[in-house]
Amino acid sequence: MRELNSFDRVPLAVLPTPVQRLENISRMLGTNVWIKRDDMTGVGLGGNKVRKLEFLLAEAKAQGAEVVFTTGGAQSNHAMLTAACALKVGMTPILILKKRGVTDRRGNLLLEHLMGVDVRFMDTDDYADIYAEMDRVGQAMGKPYYKIPCGGSNALGALGYVSCAKEIAESGMDFDYLICAEGSGGTHAGLALGAKLFLPHTTVVGMMVDTDPFDVITMGIMKEAVKLLEADVELGPDDIHLRPMAGPGYAIPSAEGTRAVRLMAEKEGLFLDPVYTGKAFAGLLAMAEEGAFRPTDNVLFLYSGGAGGLFAVDMPD
Ligand SMILES: *Cc1c(COP(=O)(O)O)cnc(C)c1O
Repeated sequence: MRELNSFDRVPLAVLPTPVQRLENISRMLGTNVWIKRDDMTGVGLGGNKVRKLEFLLAEAKAQGAEVVFTTGGAQSNHAMLTAACALKVGMTPILILKKRGVTDRRGNLLLEHLMGVDVRFMDTDDYADIYAEMDRVGQAMGKPYYKIPCGGSNALGALGYVSCAKEIAESGMDFDYLICAEGSGGTHAGLALGAKLFLPHTTVVGMMVDTDPFDVITMGIMKEAVKLLEADVELGPDDIHLRPMAGPGYAIPSAEGTRAVRLMAEKEGLFLDPVYTGKAFAGLLAMAEEGAFRPTDNVLFLYSGGAGGLFAVDMPD
């Protein structure tokens, strides 16, 4: 297998991110709940995309790109962090966003405004239209450009989370479960593959916050990442564990998610977001209610960021 540190990487994140025990929630649930602070990755307001961007922007640099395109919904955390990281490494970000979600200057759009980023909207539901527009704009500019897919979720980006699994293994702690939000698949795919390689006793669960076919998407990214790593592993359906947590739909707050956001705020002084981490933590709470965790289990929740979105979604009581 190829060593992870043989891949080009631009240093962006503050690593390793801290792991903390959630004392009050552990007591409440009768198990041991820990939180991996990937909201503290050190760029923008933090978040999981920074780990992926270390690999993706390194490839962009190696290819001589001056302009970096990416996409997502109007309030995409990924788009905001791509802009912040691209600026940091001296490239010009251009965001071509879908019009869905809050489009006035709030949340991540406010942060992009403060960074002076070129943000454009396209009224389409199909990312293929947006990738075609990136090529059109890039060619018209006549500068070398690099396209990052939605969420940074391809095999190269997922290596950021294969490395995260390695980081967890190297901390010396052993977790029975590792729980993350799943929006475009790269984080879960990286963690699930990383667990297969470095954390053989850990079950990774992806809490789906959208309704895409994540079994197929996650496996597809994992298989491509196995090729990149030249790793000798056989992947099967047992390597992927998913739970539907989208509720009424992507980026629409759910009652369970809102309850989880409030619980974390009241008990632990941490602010989850309603789009990803709130719904993912609601999935962890549901598993606890079903009796999935023993009192001796150690459950690690990936706090993948999302603060930008917290200020751009109306949350009901
Ligand atoms: C993008 C994002 C996720 C989901 O990660 P994917 O790799 O897209 O599945 C989770 N949490 C937050 C805060 C995000 O911005």
